Amino acid sequence: MNKAAPTRVTILGSGTCVPSAKRSACAVMVTAGKAVILLDCGPGTMRRLVETGTAVTDVTHLFFSHFHPDHTGELVSFIFATKYPDSDRRDNVLTITGGKGFLRFINRLKDVYGDWMELPEGMLRFVELDGNGLDRRSFASFTMETMPMNHREESLGYRITDANGRSIVYSGDTDTSNNLVSLASGADLLICESAMPDELKVPGHLTPSLAGDIATRAQVKKLVLTHLYPQCDQVDLRAQCRKTYQGPLLIAEDLMRIEV
Ligand SMILES: [Zn+2]
Ligand SMILES: [Zn+2]
Repeated sequence: MNKAAPTRVTILGSGTCVPSAKRSACAVMVTAGKAVILLDCGPGTMRRLVETGTAVTDVTHLFFSHFHPDHTGELVSFIFATKYPDSDRRDNVLTITGGKGFLRFINRLKDVYGDWMELPEGMLRFVELDGNGLDRRSFASFTMETMPMNHREESLGYRITDANGRSIVYSGDTDTSNNLVSLASGADLLICESAMPDELKVPGHLTPSLAGDIATRAQVKKLVLTHLYPQCDQVDLRAQCRKTYQGPLLIAEDLMRIEV
């Protein structure tokens, strides 16, 4: 791989299943060389995408962390939007990847939506990863590694490494996870869920100080806290995270851009 322009990360949705004008449901865009990667595609993703000046047909890869609706809810609409109108029809391949059971999940959606979810031959690829430990795939302008996370059976965290060797890790939803520590080891950026404040921890999710602990153990170069329920906007997330992590820290906002 040749040296390429810096990889850009845009937080499209910093929120959750709770409707919010400020925080759309989960989605992150990573632009690495010619690849435009979406990490999750919750409700509202396409609207945010358009706000960044990106067309749905520009997206080349869509990686799902798991199947909860706040992460997958706009998938059908996303595919449907790339079919119409004719002038904007997709002319590049879209690869959509998920964890264990993903092909069954897609086939059940197809039972309902039929060919509204289909693109011309060869334009749409669905890939299921088995989620048994570390998986590594190479694409033209980046490599992708995944490890199972501690949330749902199919949950995967993603590490994307660009042509310059810069790496971005996305936790998806997870509770405390040694896999996330190893997946994020030395990463330039960790985009980590921090669903609830420390005092309101719920099973299956992290808090600012737990996310900070993972970032410290993984020795990441920058941490972004995302997947923020409304309760998170009532407290000082930064102070909670500082109990365990002293490095560069951002609290995600929709349309926040980060260069890696
Ligand atoms: Zn979830
Ligand atoms: Zn979620």
